[in-house]
Amino acid sequence: ASDNMKKIEDIISKNRIKYVDYKFIDVPGTWQHKTHPIAELTEDVFKYGTGFDGSSIRGFQGIEESDMLLIPDAESAFVDPFIREPTLSLICDVYDPDGLKPYSRDPRYIARKAEKYMASTGIADAAYFGPELEFFIFDDVQFDVLTPYKGMGYSINSNEAIWNSNHNSTPNLGHRPRFKEGYFPVPPTDTQTDIRNEMAETMMRMGMKIELHHHEVATAGQAEIGIRFNTLTRMADQTMMYKYAVKNVALRNGKTATFMPKPLFGDNGSGMHTHQSLWKGGEPLFFDRDGYAMLSRTALYYIGGLLTHAHSLLAFCSPSTNSYKRLVPGYEAPVNLVFSSRNRSAAVRIPMYSDNPKSKRIEFRPPDGTCNPYLAFAAMLMAGLDGIQNKIDPTEAGFGPINKNIYHLPEEEKKKIKSVPGSLDEALAALEKDHDYLTKGGVFSEEFINAWIEYKRTTEIDPVRIRTHPYELYLYYDA
Ligand code: GLN
Ligand code: MG
Ligand code: MG
Ligand code: MG
Repeated sequence: ASDNMKKIEDIISKNRIKYVDYKFIDVPGTWQHKTHPIAELTEDVFKYGTGFDGSSIRGFQGIEESDMLLIPDAESAFVDPFIREPTLSLICDVYDPDGLKPYSRDPRYIARKAEKYMASTGIADAAYFGPELEFFIFDDVQFDVLTPYKGMGYSINSNEAIWNSNHNSTPNLGHRPRFKEGYFPVPPTDTQTDIRNEMAETMMRMGMKIELHHHEVATAGQAEIGIRFNTLTRMADQTMMYKYAVKNVALRNGKTATFMPKPLFGDNGSGMHTHQSLWKGGEPLFFDRDGYAMLSRTALYYIGGLLTHAHSLLAFCSPSTNSYKRLVPGYEAPVNLVFSSRNRSAAVRIPMYSDNPKSKRIEFRPPDGTCNPYLAFAAMLMAGLDGIQNKIDPTEAGFGPINKNIYHLPEEEKKKIKSVPGSLDEALAALEKDHDYLTKGGVFSEEFINAWIEYKRTTEIDPVRIRTHPYELYLYYDA
């Protein structure tokens, strides 16, 4: 019964571990943690859990049932690079002490259920996810939105100020990326190679596979680090590790990093394009040399599912009010609900870099870094599986393929193309109506979906809606 302790005993002794840090995921998708001396970690913790008060955790239940448990996953172990004393980090599942049941609102539980459901359908036994997380590294951002009369948002109130601030740590010697030319000149124009190296190296020490890193298109210091795909829950864990590493390495360098999708008006935003493929018995299911863009029928149906449910799906994949400031024309962000092997404005792109069946995958472009990766990956998988089960042909459903530049299509053709939702409000309204594909097999519960909608409306949409926006002063001050 000491299997779990066996898995981690080497890490503990080799690294002279003094503490164990338990991490779990709240509903919006950020990590929470608590720390114990390592002697407190025994096989019993893996069996009976360790308690915490769930009442103050965003999206969890109220005070009447606040005692909750964490059960660590030994497979998730890594040495935490940001805590001074040698510390073993373990990602945990959340349990309800009443009967020791998985907690229904634990996002990681929903992700694990989605993988189980997929296996139960017999369609596939592995779903691989590969998110491409983009982010900005800034020198300084200040905001005070809670004090009355200061509720205007950023104190740095123009792009130019942030842009300048971002380059102030080194004197301006004239080398700056030109507008939208951040992708990707060498140093000295790119001033962030060393910090990206440090981020990548840290992630590798945490056990992740890094494929590359580069400056991104936006002028003001946008970056992307490419990580190797993995299975759904494992990849969601690594998405959390990625964000943790990026933010903390930035801080160590006196910088700050953000995954918010559109921090700067007028420049590219940050996405989390998500590559996906299904496998069965070690064989890839998405490849067919004779299909459109070398896609199998299964892959096309999966795409049909993603695009048919796109409006409700975005309530989990692009789940912030800021997400919809990114999803506008002109910035390589998707706006059109079509699939294409060429267009970067298409919601589904088929990468054509290779004709190796094993690397055949589809790329869903709407997601961004404000999503909870456990919920977003689970929802995308459920939409794709629904497409396969109902044989949703994306072409018959009116989703393309579109190979020409969409901006240059005749008006008549353009009118036929559906768009992503224009706001979080619209996405949530769509989720209210369209969620049967998510509740199959009990993966998402009706209760969870309602709680999500309620949380997003009361904690994000309404507070943003009732605040005066700087652009309203520009429009109405002289009315
Ligand atoms: N930043 C773009 C987006 O918002 C993507 C740019 C790219 O990776 N080609 O999705
Ligand atoms: Mg990329
Ligand atoms: Mg990119
Ligand atoms: Mg991409």
